[in-house]
Amino acid sequence: MTTDVHQLDDGAWVSVNDSREVNVSDLWRLTNHDFCSCRLADFLAEGFVEVGADGANVEGRIAGRCIQCGTEGVTDWLTLGRVDPATGEFRPVVPGSVHVPGCRRRPPLSP
Ligand SMILES: [Zn+2]
Repeated sequence: MTTDVHQLDDGAWVSVNDSREVNVSDLWRLTNHDFCSCRLADFLAEGFVEVGADGANVEGRIAGRCIQCGTEGVTDWLTLGRVDPATGEFRPVVPGSVHVPGCRRRPPLSP
């Protein structure tokens, strides 16, 4: 099964299999991250920079800022949700729960 993932509207939305599923205006709680120096960052998502799929997992890197310390930048890869292989239905993660970016490190993309 292939998962078709795109960003739309300058990164405001992620579409999964041609359906708008994830909106960017969420607060994500990040831990074990190197985005800023907060142990638990409150990351305000402002735009999806890169999106992709790893099998049924939908992942993305998000531009935004930590509302605690003000650091701005782009996160490492975060799991945005998962496509149920049986039904094809997308099940998003809960952004307000705690997430660990980059748990699956990718090799750098060639320019
Ligand atoms: Zn911070």
